[in-house]
Amino acid sequence: MYDVIVVGSGPAGITASIYAKRRNLSVLIISKNESALQKTDKIENYYGFPNGTTGKELYENGIKQAQNLGIELIEDEIVSLKFLNTFELETVNSKYEAKSVILATGANRNSSKINGIKEFEGKGVSYCAVCDAYFFKGKDVAVLGSGNYAISELQQLKPIVKSVTILTNGNKIVENRSIQADIIEKPIRSFRGENKIQEVEFEDNTKKEISAVFIAQGTASSNDLARKIGARIENDHIVVNQNMETTVKGLFACGDCTGGLLQISKAVYEGATAGLSVLK
Ligand SMILES: Cc1cc2nc3c(=O)[nH]c(=O)nc-3n(C[C@H](O)[C@H](O)[C@H](O)COP(=O)(O)OP(=O)(O)OC[C@H]3O[C@@H](n4cnc5c(N)ncnc54)[C@H](O)[C@@H]3O)c2cc1C
Repeated sequence: MYDVIVVGSGPAGITASIYAKRRNLSVLIISKNESALQKTDKIENYYGFPNGTTGKELYENGIKQAQNLGIELIEDEIVSLKFLNTFELETVNSKYEAKSVILATGANRNSSKINGIKEFEGKGVSYCAVCDAYFFKGKDVAVLGSGNYAISELQQLKPIVKSVTILTNGNKIVENRSIQADIIEKPIRSFRGENKIQEVEFEDNTKKEISAVFIAQGTASSNDLARKIGARIENDHIVVNQNMETTVKGLFACGDCTGGLLQISKAVYEGATAGLSVLK
């Protein structure tokens, strides 16, 4: 059991872990190692680099700095978050427990442009299997996604619904031993229905009847994880107070996932605040 588990190793997560560790807390970082920084060629607006720096250099230095302080870092993907008396984080390979969690997974990239998704939000389109599965008890539903997060959502749904089909929308499904479901890899044209979702239509004009679709594209974002334990999300961002506390006690969020200015300086500030708040 850790005092705090930080999800994400970008500027927000690394800074949060450094502040928490320097307060003598036991800290684990779990991260997929895909920071927005790695997509950044030249950074010229961050303090202390008169000739600029690269995202890659900044990212690698952050990791080194955390490791030099003795912070444990595991490369893995979080697919689920639960709270009983403590927080339980499930990754593709294992489970971890902590007294507090800091979410720092960067900007939410899980929105989909497929026709019908926005229209049917709350009318068959769901972003959280553990929250909404029961509404579709005994029904045929689908999961939209092709990675480990989609498989985790499938496993949540299976004991409750009649059947689950995975819709990958033209992507290849991840290799995973525990996939026991129909998989349709065809590209999707739209989700359709009257007042609620009734079917998915594919680009080849074929259709399949479904009562719901659970969106689980890419990796689980901070929003996806926060939603599973009831933290408030507004305008696609996690709601935090000035101490970076979410609406769930012990759950913090910082960096791009809280919205506002999507810049390193803001991620660092919020990471520092979260790392200090966790001790309180
Ligand atoms: C092309 C581009 C150029 C940019 N240029 C600048 C610039 O010049 N100056 C500037 O200040 N900012 C710039 N930014 C923005 C800056 O990169 C971000 O604001 C900053 O990286 C946000 O930090 P973060 O820690 O919140 O998130 P990120 O850096 O995105 O880190 C998120 C972390 O979460 C991990 N993660 C995500 N999901 C999971 C999961 N399910 N399980 C485990 N780990 C997970 C990722 O692997 C990653 O380690 C740029 C961004 C882009 C994309």
